[in-house]
Amino acid sequence: MNYKFNVMLVQNKQIAIVGGGPGGLTLARLLQLQGVDVKVYERDINKDARVQGSPLDLHEHSGLAAIRKAGLLDAFKNNFMPGADKTNILNERAEVFFSDHETKQIENFGDEHFRPEIDRGVLRKILLESIQPDTIVWDSHFVSMEKQGEGWLLHFKNKASVYADIVIAADGANSKIRPHLTDIKPFYSGITMLEGNVYDAEKSVPNVSAILRGGKIMAFGNEQNILMGQKANNEIGFYASFKTDENWPVTSGLNFSDKTEVLEWFKKEYPEWSSIWYELFENVSGSFIPRPIYCMPLDQTWNALPNLTMLGDAAHVMPPFAGEGVNMAMLDALELSECLTSDDHASIHDAISVYETNMRARASFMAKESLDNGEKMHSATALTTMLDFFSGH
Ligand SMILES: Cc1cc2nc3c(=O)[nH]c(=O)nc-3n(C[C@H](O)[C@H](O)[C@H](O)COP(=O)(O)OP(=O)(O)OC[C@H]3O[C@@H](n4cnc5c(N)ncnc54)[C@H](O)[C@@H]3O)c2cc1C
Repeated sequence: MNYKFNVMLVQNKQIAIVGGGPGGLTLARLLQLQGVDVKVYERDINKDARVQGSPLDLHEHSGLAAIRKAGLLDAFKNNFMPGADKTNILNERAEVFFSDHETKQIENFGDEHFRPEIDRGVLRKILLESIQPDTIVWDSHFVSMEKQGEGWLLHFKNKASVYADIVIAADGANSKIRPHLTDIKPFYSGITMLEGNVYDAEKSVPNVSAILRGGKIMAFGNEQNILMGQKANNEIGFYASFKTDENWPVTSGLNFSDKTEVLEWFKKEYPEWSSIWYELFENVSGSFIPRPIYCMPLDQTWNALPNLTMLGDAAHVMPPFAGEGVNMAMLDALELSECLTSDDHASIHDAISVYETNMRARASFMAKESLDNGEKMHSATALTTMLDFFSGH
């Protein structure tokens, strides 16, 4: 049945988005464009909190579609990192087997194979500047919530509790709100990534920088990887990625703030790898961050509620090996905003149900691809498989 109503479902409703990552902020922007009353509760202390993690490549039909709908394509074009999507594929000895530095176009918006890279902090800044002042309530670490009337009373670590008619969980992979919708938990993918960040990269890691050339490096050998990408401000983010137990961060016994100890670990565990990689470990800023990689079950489902839903990693964390996580989070925001503000649904409950059904199917497809890529990239034939893949594009 096709319902048509004149009054927007969420008119006069207070919406609380918990989490000011790319998913939550995109949703806030899209809802505000429709005149919806929305607040974002974010645990970071303020807008200057450093955003961790690799740069993000946005895809034409998901991340960039949301950026377009949010009216932010020009801001994106002014702030993305031209050339950062150019890739070199190496073996463990740092021999280059593939490079698209000379052939790839710098800018090709509208082409579905063009995946422009943007620094996470820069993307957050663009989104923050696009929402109305005071939309985001910093230093709001959500801890729990309970039903109150038709909505929810939300409690935070350092702030007074607030009421919202509708709550949207955008609080990432370890969502504290998700258990109000389902008990289903993510499973460990078998892969852990050890993240390091290097500042002033051209000076501090000159040999690796000369290969990176402001783009990406993917190095494969012995079922292990080193993956890295250019970030803003001459920073490099890199990951040593390998198969291990879920509890490796503890059982390894490593002190992740001790560079020398981690370098010794690398030399021992990546014995075939060239010494050119050592400069990365020697020049890490701050601590290494071990990241066991998780994925939501592909067949997860739950019953829709009339006043609560979730998006992004809270709903469907997946391994990063297809570069889809942020794109799915932003597409969730786009589709959820459309469902909540369209006049095609009889109730908010229906709108949420339609959104969740589509979102689960889409995310499951991408999660499968991400798991499969993770297997390929950590297999004995990773280098040839990835060379075949990249040569075909
Ligand atoms: C190692 C690694 C590499 C990745 N590389 C890529 C990539 O190349 N491409 C890609 O598309 N994706 C990548 N991803 C995945 C991507 O980072 C996520 O899919 C994306 O950030 C999800 O966005 P989100 O808004 O749902 O959640 P998040 O980005 O996790 O944002 C959640 C926000 O909620 C806040 N928050 C958390 N808990 C609370 C709380 N209790 N109260 C209040 N606020 C809270 C957090 O501070 C954060 O701001 C990678 C992930 C990892 C781990």
